Amino acid sequence: MATATASRKVCRKCRLIVKGKTCPICGDSDLTATWSGRVDIFEPAASQIAQSMNINVKGKYALRVR
Ligand SMILES: [Zn+2]
Repeated sequence: MATATASRKVCRKCRLIVKGKTCPICGDSDLTATWSGRVDIFEPAASQIAQSMNINVKGKYALRVR
């Protein structure tokens, strides 16, 4: 069985898991491959996790970023 490699990178500012080379939220290209944990935010306004992480846009985020 092949293991899924986490090649996705994460925006240092937003902690959004980014598919491309730039963050779609802030437009920054300061991405890191060193991250752990993952959380799907569907309703930022109703999510305590989103509130504590200052997330305003729904999407997939990393819990920890270095
Ligand atoms: Zn960003």
